[in-house]
Amino acid sequence: MIIIDGSEGEGGGQVVRNACALSLVTGQPFRITHVRGRREKVGLMRQHVTAIEAACAIGGAECEGLRVGSTEIGFTPGRVTPGEYHFAVGTAGSTGLVLQTVLMPLLAADAPSRLVLEGGTHNMMAPPFEFLTRAFLPIVNRMGPSVEARLVRHGFFPRGGGRIEVDITPAPLRPIDCLDRGAATGHAASVLFAALPLPVAERMLKAARKKLPGWAEDAFVVRELPVDQGPGTILLLEAAFENVTEVVSGFGKLGVTAERVAATAAGRMAGYLASDAFAGPYLADQLLLPFALAGGGSFTTVRPSQHSLTAATIIERFTGRKTQFEVRSGERNLVTIR
Ligand code: AMP
Repeated sequence: MIIIDGSEGEGGGQVVRNACALSLVTGQPFRITHVRGRREKVGLMRQHVTAIEAACAIGGAECEGLRVGSTEIGFTPGRVTPGEYHFAVGTAGSTGLVLQTVLMPLLAADAPSRLVLEGGTHNMMAPPFEFLTRAFLPIVNRMGPSVEARLVRHGFFPRGGGRIEVDITPAPLRPIDCLDRGAATGHAASVLFAALPLPVAERMLKAARKKLPGWAEDAFVVRELPVDQGPGTILLLEAAFENVTEVVSGFGKLGVTAERVAATAAGRMAGYLASDAFAGPYLADQLLLPFALAGGGSFTTVRPSQHSLTAATIIERFTGRKTQFEVRSGERNLVTIR
């Protein structure tokens, strides 16, 4: 039994999701105490409960202490069964984070799966749909499997109601090395909005354009979604390179001006562009799991986040595989998994 103190390191939901995924792949049970111990509201929230329920459903697992607010859980994995699954996060909890929990176990299965996930598709502090399809999944697919995701309906916080569908065709994960991003192949900035005044979206786009002066004018677009998919708005900044695409997002939030959302997101994109690293901070923590399950590999990244360091610790507990973070010149760090 692996015992994890959920307040160590990053101390959030990712510890729980990664532990479930690793437990299902390796067959080792675990217990987490002080679940999400570093979050303002400690314990499991609705979206974490759904993610664990999803892990139990695909993996024939049992989870003790599984309820909203729970600060201690015990998880006993079973046998992963590929197939068709439908999981709905009751609130606008992130569909992307449910996917993060079940994807690796389903990739290790011996037949394809199809997932329908309902909830939020564009949530703060979670990978938005475009990040999954343009940044994360292309790298996973390069390692062997085929994972394709479609967005059927957008879901923003707090209303949710979004829907994504994911087709998963497993194949053994192969170790890869992702050191260079390659030459730039394009960039785009889009504001998606629903049930909000158009000027809010236009102001956000204008502020982003000001902060990214090198980007062509026609790279900036506003896209209005059906009113019943809102209210909500997100700025998506995308920089494509030969070997990787970075997607930076700015989430519209009540009380935060459109200009501020845009400036923060554009600042992050400028930081990534100024480095020559392969992975941005979010991609880096999300790649650690597939790389470890592939048995190794390496990538360069900007300064490793606390999420990455914590993911590496949890991975080592389940697999014994070590992640080495080596600071190279400037904003280029080498991450090697052995
Ligand atoms: P946690 O905060 O522990 O629930 O983990 C959040 C997860 O969502 C991490 O894997 C992050 O990499 C990911 N994440 C958070 N914000 C973004 C974002 N804007 N784009 C992509 N991934 C994100």
